[in-house]
Amino acid sequence: MPNIQTTVKTCSKCLINQHYPKIHFDEQGQCSLCSDQKTFHPLGEEKLKAIFETARKKQAVYDALVPLSGGKDSTYILFLAVKVYGLKVLAMTYNNGFLSELAKDNIRQAISITGVDHVFCFSDKQVQQKIYREMLLASGDLCGVCDIATKAHILKTASEHAIPIILYGTSPLEEDSFVPDTIQDLRRLKFILRQSKQFKRREINDFLIFPRLNNFSLSYRKMTGRFAREVRPFFYLDNQSDAAIGEIVNREMNWKDDGRTYSRHLDCVAEPFTNYLRNQIYGYERRRCQFSNMIRKNELSRDEALKLFELDRVDHLPGNYRQILQQLNCTDDDLPKILAYQAMQFENKVSRMNQLFAVLMQVKRKLRTLQHR
Ligand SMILES: [Zn+2]
Repeated sequence: MPNIQTTVKTCSKCLINQHYPKIHFDEQGQCSLCSDQKTFHPLGEEKLKAIFETARKKQAVYDALVPLSGGKDSTYILFLAVKVYGLKVLAMTYNNGFLSELAKDNIRQAISITGVDHVFCFSDKQVQQKIYREMLLASGDLCGVCDIATKAHILKTASEHAIPIILYGTSPLEEDSFVPDTIQDLRRLKFILRQSKQFKRREINDFLIFPRLNNFSLSYRKMTGRFAREVRPFFYLDNQSDAAIGEIVNREMNWKDDGRTYSRHLDCVAEPFTNYLRNQIYGYERRRCQFSNMIRKNELSRDEALKLFELDRVDHLPGNYRQILQQLNCTDDDLPKILAYQAMQFENKVSRMNQLFAVLMQVKRKLRTLQHR
């Protein structure tokens, strides 16, 4: 575990520190994320409109599925889909057991204002709790298993209603905020769960819905139309600032935040705890990365970002951590075990197909960059 109490080298331009994977600093003290920063080139609104047109031509009951967490980004995507582009939308929310009251209010408001249909998706509650608990204890993390379950429910919902596209609120602001471990990998997750010998194979398979999916079979199913096409509108449109998006959803969707400036992930009550764990295990966490991204995009000065970052106190256990532990049948006594997780411990259990897929995607991105030059 990196000792975060000692002086840690931090970038002179952003807040990225020496614990960030593969980071290096130049003579001026600027980190490689800052010096390698590329200008964001959106794919273009015309391309997005063309995707929507193709979806409409399918004449399904719904043109698009919008996964709605009650957070700022997904609420904005729902606003765009319905109010700006006039799509027939089904909205869905996976209840991970940690949905905040604020998120539930925001979902209710968004549904009532747009008038779209909405479904809540659930896993078996007991199995979900047991699986989350095991993943937390064995891998110091909850977000990976939650992302896996959410994605499975999204794909299932789109398939059941024959919806041609899924619109994700993934924001370019969240780029670079991942941990070095491949935490969203089914093979790795199944290995950790089976190792604990507490689960029947059927329990795991039912929870995963598509237990044998890898990135190749996912792509194949999307290409052949068995799965919906996944679209990330933020990557097509001119870069809207976080503040501008906040103003729009507040005005148009009656969306509320928790009063903190630039707060993120307020849809999940476990987020501050998982962020604390990340910081302890890796020496950096989401907020540091997101603020750094905002500095690079000139949305915040370094001083402003630093002030906001310090208010977050990511190196302190959040006020509600016992509630989160309790909900997973854990106590304070389990904290040392959770924090003892060594980064990349299960990386050799990651699906070979997914590793190959990641390499191919990297090559594709490199080729695209060369074409743009
Ligand atoms: Zn930097």
